[in-house]
Amino acid sequence: DGVVYGEVCRPCRVMILVNPHSGRGQALQLFTGHVQGMLTEASVPYTLVITEHQNHAREVVKKADLSQWDALAIMSGDGLLFEVINGLMEREDWQEAIQTPLGILPGGSGNALAASVHHYSQSPPAWNEELLLSCGFMLCKGLVGSMDLVSVHLASRQRLFSFLSLAWGFVADVDIESEKYRHVGAIRFLMGTLVRLASLRTYQGRLAYLPVKEAPKPPKGSIKVNHPPTSAPQQPSFCSSLPCRLFPNLSPNQNSLHNHIGTNSNHNTITNSSNNAITTKRPETQVDGKTREPVDSLLPGLDQPVPESWTVVGEEDFVLVLAIYQSHLAEDLWTAPGAMADDGVIHLFYVTAGISRPALLRLFLAMEKGAHLACGCPHLVYERVKALRLEPISTQGMITVDGEMVEYGPVQAQIHPGLARLICG
Ligand code: ADP
Ligand code: MG
Repeated sequence: DGVVYGEVCRPCRVMILVNPHSGRGQALQLFTGHVQGMLTEASVPYTLVITEHQNHAREVVKKADLSQWDALAIMSGDGLLFEVINGLMEREDWQEAIQTPLGILPGGSGNALAASVHHYSQSPPAWNEELLLSCGFMLCKGLVGSMDLVSVHLASRQRLFSFLSLAWGFVADVDIESEKYRHVGAIRFLMGTLVRLASLRTYQGRLAYLPVKEAPKPPKGSIKVNHPPTSAPQQPSFCSSLPCRLFPNLSPNQNSLHNHIGTNSNHNTITNSSNNAITTKRPETQVDGKTREPVDSLLPGLDQPVPESWTVVGEEDFVLVLAIYQSHLAEDLWTAPGAMADDGVIHLFYVTAGISRPALLRLFLAMEKGAHLACGCPHLVYERVKALRLEPISTQGMITVDGEMVEYGPVQAQIHPGLARLICG
C-alpha cells in the first residue's frame, strides 16, 4: 500500500480522482460505501487520487504517464472534470491525451454530466446514491463513446475547453451564489434559483451565433421534447458512434490494487475558493504568432465582426444566456431534451427581459421533465448552433464555464465534435 505517485505499479488501470470537499464533503465516503465494492466485484483495477486543493487534478493529469492508465474517472462534481479536461488539453500530446476515456461518478453538488450520462443510457431518472450506483455500474461495464468539447475564448485571449455549459446572467449567478449552500447538496440550485428570483435583474449585451444547417427544418414550435432519439435503435442512445469496450481482456484477479496515492508533487498554488474566477495560465489561441491546435476554424478574432453566415440577435436585455452541450444542467434540470454527448451541437437558450418571476420559475420547474420548451413562453428562445459570441454590456455580472466562474467580458465558443471520449451507456 501507499504507492508514491510516479512509481505506480501495474495493474492500476483506472485513475479515480476524488475531491473530498465536493458536494457535502462526503465524496470519499460515498466512494467507499457504494462504488469500491462494485469495482472489486467487477475486477476493475483502479487507483484513488484524493485531491488536496483546486487545480491539483489538473496538474496530476497534465504530468501523468497516460500509457499507464486506461481511463480517468472523476468522483466529484462537474468542476473536477473541467480541471481534468483542461489539464489534458494543456499537454503537448493533447491529441492523444484527450482520447483517454473519461468516467464520471457523482460526488458533488452539481452533477450535470453524471445525470446526462445516466439519461443517455435510457434509464429512468435517478438521484443521489441511485445515480451514483448507475454511474458506478457504467464504469464497470466500460463502454466508451465520444463526447463533444467546446473551446471557449475569453477577452484575455485565454482558451479553455468545456464539456457542459457556458452561462451568463441568471444561471451563472445561481451557480456561483448557490455555492454557499453546497452543504445541502444538489438542492442548492433550487434554493439559489428562489433567492435569485427574488432579486431578478436583466443583463444587457449582444449575442450572435452560427446556426446548425438543418434540412428540412421542422415547423416553428414543434421542437421535440421528451422523446428519446429514434435513429439507430439497436445502438445505445448516448452517441452516434459505435461504443467500444474499455476492459476487453480483464482477468478476474486484477483487482488487488486500491492505493491512496501520496500527493507531494509540485503544484501551482492557486486559491482554493471556487468563488474566485479561474486565474491559472491557460493555452492561448496564438503563441508566438503560431495558431494553437485544435484550430477554431469557425471563430474570427474577438475584435473582428462575426461572419455573414452568423445570426446576429443584436443588443438585447437578457435574463439569461445558456449554451449547453449535454442533456442535463443539474440532476433535476433536463435542459436540452434532444442533446446527446456527441451530437456536434451547442444547444443555445436565452431568455429575454420582460419575463415575469412566476413565468421564469415555471420554466425551471418544467425543466425537471424537459417540458420548458412546450410552455409556450415568448421570452424563451432555443437554437441549435455550432458557434456563438456573447458580448456583455452590463458591467456587473458573471460568466461560468461548466459551472466554474471565468473572467467576465466578451466570450466566444465553438464546438469540436467528438474530441473527447466518455464512459457511458
Ligand atoms: P461541486 O459540485 O460540489 O461544486 P466540484 O467538483 O465542482 O464539486 O468542485 C468544486 C470546486 O472545488 C472546483 O472548482 C474544483 O476545482 C475544486 N477542488 C477540487 N479539489 C479540491 C480540493 N481538494 N480542495 C478544494 N477545492 C477543490
Ligand atoms: Mg461545481
